[in-house]
Amino acid sequence: MVSEDELLRRWEKTVERLFREGVIKSEAVRRAFLKYPRYLFVQKRYWGYAHVDEPLPIPAGQTISAPHMVAIMLELAELKPGMKVLEVGTGSGWNAALIAELVKTDVYTVERIPELVEFARQNLRRAGVGNVHVFLGDGSGGFPPKAPYDRIIVTAGAPEIPEPLVEQLKPGGRLIIPVGSYHLWQDLYIVDKTEDGEIKKRRWGGVAFVPLVGEYGWRE
Ligand code: SAM
Repeated sequence: MVSEDELLRRWEKTVERLFREGVIKSEAVRRAFLKYPRYLFVQKRYWGYAHVDEPLPIPAGQTISAPHMVAIMLELAELKPGMKVLEVGTGSGWNAALIAELVKTDVYTVERIPELVEFARQNLRRAGVGNVHVFLGDGSGGFPPKAPYDRIIVTAGAPEIPEPLVEQLKPGGRLIIPVGSYHLWQDLYIVDKTEDGEIKKRRWGGVAFVPLVGEYGWRE
């Protein structure tokens, strides 16, 4: 078994490489990555692989995204302290922990699989993250009780952009969402709502996520 010192050393190398390559662009994202190493959010048998820049399995047949993918989405989200953020697809809780570190306030995240809600809560507790609120449910239609949001980050692939997510953005808000085919190939979209309520969509490029399953996602 690799020691935690060694896991941290490997993780720091991964973060520094992503920074050097320009994938991590901001000091804030770099610091958040260093504060919450990915191994804290995977099962122990995967700890030795947590620094590798690839997705890893988490329970219930789902995945924790590759570090570069998480960094890209966080940089596109341009998170600032005080922003109200909804994440759809809690998974391991890692991305939510990073978001919380960047906005320094409460973060809301929705997960449809009960086992993963428990898994994420445990990971977040162990990592000492206190301001992430994990809810069980179908987040494909957002999370109306806490709307509107400055940012909504969806970490599963939708067949199209769910209208309720756009509605739940504040003026000046931004939605980041993979949209495309059922499995493993989507385009990452950046959807901005201007201060006048106009909607502007941009395509960032190709990504590969597990499907968003639900009323505004794929049917089971
Ligand atoms: N953000 C996660 C992390 O940091 O570990 C990785 C998320 S994983 C790629 C996608 C997650 O979205 C899965 O856990 C899956 O169960 C969840 N999911 C899929 N459809 C969903 C829905 N309609 N509502 C909430 N969660 C959903």
